Amino acid sequence: MSDVRPGVVTGKAYQAVIEAAKAGGYALPAVNVVGTDSVNAVLEAAAKAKSDVIIQLSNGGAQFYAGKGYPDSFQAKVLGAVSCAHHVHLLAQAYGVCVALHTDHADKSLIPWVEALVGHSEAHHAKTGQPLFSSHMLDLSELSLAENIELSAAMLRRMAKIDMSLEIELGVTGGEEDGVGHEVEEGADNSHLYTQPADVLQAYDVLAPIGHFSVAASFGNVHGVYKPGNVKLRPEILKNSQALVQQTHGLAENPLHLVFHGGSGSDPAKIEEAVGYGVFKMNIDTDTQFAFAEPIGKYVLGNPRAFQYQLDPDTGKPYKKDYDPRKWLRLGEDGMVARLQQAFADLGATGRSVCL
Ligand SMILES: [Zn+2]
Repeated sequence: MSDVRPGVVTGKAYQAVIEAAKAGGYALPAVNVVGTDSVNAVLEAAAKAKSDVIIQLSNGGAQFYAGKGYPDSFQAKVLGAVSCAHHVHLLAQAYGVCVALHTDHADKSLIPWVEALVGHSEAHHAKTGQPLFSSHMLDLSELSLAENIELSAAMLRRMAKIDMSLEIELGVTGGEEDGVGHEVEEGADNSHLYTQPADVLQAYDVLAPIGHFSVAASFGNVHGVYKPGNVKLRPEILKNSQALVQQTHGLAENPLHLVFHGGSGSDPAKIEEAVGYGVFKMNIDTDTQFAFAEPIGKYVLGNPRAFQYQLDPDTGKPYKKDYDPRKWLRLGEDGMVARLQQAFADLGATGRSVCL
């Protein structure tokens, strides 16, 4: 179908994956990972679903990847992300999966983290012709629109030179992801959770001439899974933003590459509607975390003695095979693989890989 090959897709290949999704009316899950278990589960799930996939790290996930005990937390966030990237570059090819590699929310205080990662991608690009990551995200939605756009443009100028894409945030996604986030007040009007199409146009006008970028636009989406009814999803905000940019610049339909944050717990009908308005990426973390944890919890509760004794104090039975981390970590991986089959189906991505 295309000349995109399995492995980490960057630059033109990444853009081809996005265009294929938008033209085909489907989107890809962007799954937050924290270690090799979750990475391998995503690769297994994508191979099984015959879909492309996006793997991403939050700053905390990257730190955990390098080890929570690593003494310098900033370096851990850099080294963990780099280590994960190398793991994915090697194994995505082996699994035969097309993977876009991202990092998640970085507010102003985390700009040095993104800069350090871009530095690693520059070095990798000099050696191999390819950056380590497909895209990073800057979430400067707490700043003024002008400052958000200015700082995003400066980062994109540097990234575009090595075929990297930038994800920006306009408006605020409710809830929080790893300490970057915003309060959702029950009963308040929460109008700050909805992006203004005029803001999207302003960002487009500055960023489009510089390089490739995507937009996390807020349409009432919230990180995490909460009681329904607190915030109303309004995907028509995405439609209106697309229409404004399209009409202003005389472009084809859905010119913006849109990202849906806080996909966990969302109604499949709203997901489908959002995908129709040019969403190519839906972030999922809370639901896959639970899918990993739940079967492990069941197993521990069902085998309590194996987690208290190496040998049963009454019968002398050895529990080595039961407490071996491979036994229960694998259950977590299985849970995540199964939950992701649902995510691929909800997004219309099953069987649609461009590198089949
Ligand atoms: Zn998010």
